[in-house]
Amino acid sequence: MQDIVIIGGSFAGLAAAMQLGRARRRVIVLDTGLNRNRYAEAAHNFLGHDGTPPAELLHKARHQLQAYPSVKLVSARADSVSGEADAFQIETASGETIAGRRLIFSHGIVDDFPPIPGFAESWGKTVIHCPFCHGFEVAGKRWGLVYSSPMSLHATSLYGDWTDDISLFLDGHSLNAEERSRLEMRGIKIHDARLTAIEHDKGQLRSVLLADGAEIQLDALYAHPRNRPSADFHTQLGLATKETPTGIMLAVDDKGATSRPGIYAAGDLVSGMHSISFASASASLAAMGAQSSMLA
Ligand SMILES: Cc1cc2nc3c(=O)[nH]c(=O)nc-3n(C[C@H](O)[C@H](O)[C@H](O)COP(=O)(O)OP(=O)(O)OC[C@H]3O[C@@H](n4cnc5c(N)ncnc54)[C@H](O)[C@@H]3O)c2cc1C
Repeated sequence: MQDIVIIGGSFAGLAAAMQLGRARRRVIVLDTGLNRNRYAEAAHNFLGHDGTPPAELLHKARHQLQAYPSVKLVSARADSVSGEADAFQIETASGETIAGRRLIFSHGIVDDFPPIPGFAESWGKTVIHCPFCHGFEVAGKRWGLVYSSPMSLHATSLYGDWTDDISLFLDGHSLNAEERSRLEMRGIKIHDARLTAIEHDKGQLRSVLLADGAEIQLDALYAHPRNRPSADFHTQLGLATKETPTGIMLAVDDKGATSRPGIYAAGDLVSGMHSISFASASASLAAMGAQSSMLA
């Protein structure tokens, strides 16, 4: 019996494993190797590691975890979860059953790319989601933003810290007259028509094509596709969730506990703020919550 089974071994899962391994807890981490930022050449805004390739960060973390003999990293997909605190059972895709007293879910989220030619090919390179991660490198250049929710209007203000040249692509959404004139007064260029294609050279953006025939030259396009948890354990177990502007996240308390006793969660699964720092911080909380709940 493991003390804690961690499902998802990327930034959140490995951070939780490190903390629990240092506490000499028996931990197993199941992972399928699909960290969300695998499309990006470098990760930014992670203190001490700015500009490091994501795979290198994770490789180093896995290597450092070898110092903790009670932590086992396993390349496997968890398929189903059942049971109660002190007696959870996890079935893997290869038919193995693992028992654990506590669970930490850190399996992340999946971005569902819109069916726009060029979008998937440019994702993480010049079609990006976060200016703190990948904005500095294209500061002062021609930025576009695909409208995804009312939060997009706030994003146009935020992006003003990086550039004065911002195009907002409504992609079929509508704005009321007041919103439109407020944006226009700030110099935001508004395009109403749907996006039909992204012109690029190996992911390096050249322009976006619109259904009204316009072609807009850009250096970076910000987009926030709909996303969903990478696995359906929240449905299997009836866990409470919360709406985000682009999907759902698991509801957790200030110790990372989900709505079901013994199950904790961390990382992009539990936050609308998607970054390595937030993922590892929430993992520390969840690890501490799980550990505290097992103390005599
Ligand atoms: C293109 C892009 C670039 C980014 N750049 C940056 C950046 O520069 N700086 C920054 O701070 N943040 C960046 N981010 C955000 C960052 O990638 C995420 O916040 C971070 O990866 C979240 O970590 P996580 O551990 O919660 O989830 P993830 O990294 O998504 O990891 C989840 C893990 O769980 C595994 N998994 C899923 N389902 C199962 C299952 N059923 N069984 C076992 N394992 C499973 C997956 O394979 C994966 O390894 C970027 C995001 C994107 C999309």
